[in-house]
Amino acid sequence: MSQNPPDLRPDLARARVTETPRDGQPTIGMVSLGCPKALVDSERILTRLRAEGYAISPDYGGADAVIVNTCGFLDSAKAESLDAIGEALNENGRVIVTGCLGAEPEYITGAHPKVLAVTGPHQYEQVLDAVHAAVPPAPDPFIDLMPTAGVKLTPRHYSYLKISEGCNHTCKFCIIPDMRGKLASRPHRAVMREAEKLVESGVRELLVISQDTSAYGTDWKDREDKFPILPLARDLGSLGAWVRLHYVYPYPHVRELVPMMAEGLIAPYLDIPFQHAHPDTLRRMARPAAAARTLDEIAAWRRDCPDITLRSTFIVGYPGETEEEFQTLLDWLDEAQLDRVGCFQYENVEGARSNALPDHVPPEVKQDRWDRFMARAQAISEARLAAKVGRRLPVIVDEVDEDAATCRTMADAPEIDGNLFIDEGFEGLAPGDVLTVEVDEASEYDLWGRPVGS
Ligand code: SF4
Repeated sequence: MSQNPPDLRPDLARARVTETPRDGQPTIGMVSLGCPKALVDSERILTRLRAEGYAISPDYGGADAVIVNTCGFLDSAKAESLDAIGEALNENGRVIVTGCLGAEPEYITGAHPKVLAVTGPHQYEQVLDAVHAAVPPAPDPFIDLMPTAGVKLTPRHYSYLKISEGCNHTCKFCIIPDMRGKLASRPHRAVMREAEKLVESGVRELLVISQDTSAYGTDWKDREDKFPILPLARDLGSLGAWVRLHYVYPYPHVRELVPMMAEGLIAPYLDIPFQHAHPDTLRRMARPAAAARTLDEIAAWRRDCPDITLRSTFIVGYPGETEEEFQTLLDWLDEAQLDRVGCFQYENVEGARSNALPDHVPPEVKQDRWDRFMARAQAISEARLAAKVGRRLPVIVDEVDEDAATCRTMADAPEIDGNLFIDEGFEGLAPGDVLTVEVDEASEYDLWGRPVGS
């Protein structure tokens, strides 16, 4: 994870909580590391704690105990989690650990024996038990009113919406199925109820997340639809908010989502982790759809929805990757012309099957390939953004300060993509506003523009 520039790191999504506790109110702090899925878990834990009368502290000093929600995806993320636990112990002293790294309690207690408790991913009840033991609740039914849509760690106008957990694939570099289990989809009705509540409470953009969004519902034995993501996307699209799909695998039925984008029902944006383009590398990775003709698929999506934005992530330096395989990836990228790209240098992860593969790539070769790949991706991004100058696009406002309004077009997901800045005529705008902007300038990752009406 340490290899991406900061603007391409979803794991840098940080909690934003401000709340003043009343006198004597038990107060909990939260450090939320990891991907948007972990952020959703943190929000759920905080929502439950808030309902039980706990206040949430934005800093270590004001908290009676701190929960650290960890990430264990890569060894570098594990090290970052251990550092965060160490910092919380130094600053506060009373620390409860949860999240993906909690699946390996000895790893945590070995480094930090003073933590109060360790629980694994999605063990909400156990986290709450640990909090109750460390800081007993003191609810006041007249004061502890819940916000309609729970506690959000993301700004109020957008929200992550988790539709399923786990994954049925066995990609060799990934230990998520070991940590999070097989695909388990939330019922359509439950997802819709949560989405409706979010929209009613002011959310203007829903970010749909899971490990494998296009596989949503395929774990249900008796299902009416062969691919339940299709009716779910359609129903979410009817709520009037922007709907953005993340972690969509390029299965053939993704083609049926694209007309919904062309219709304006869901955002014309696909976040598809291709990981590589050479069929042999993909086979060694044991990727789903390893043999898919992805360039043909991309051409078909663009034909059906010319404005579609494609974001993807890749791994360079995977064990056995030859210069020729890497070159295929670069050629593929030239042809695919993806709008947004993240790239990781391959790292061994404890427990991953790829560790045992032969022909690991030396670090300096990985770095060289990463540099070449990112230079190519950046040039493509720059050219694609330059082509937007002069266009009129809808944007959503994320933040307003004295210098500018920071916005996003439908092509930009929060935290991971670029921004559109309005630095003139932004007075009166507020976070969550949606307006039309004429783009007048572009850089490698960002745009600038001016309002032309709402
Ligand atoms: S599809 Fe592969 S990379 Fe993604 S969560 Fe499943 S096993 Fe991991």
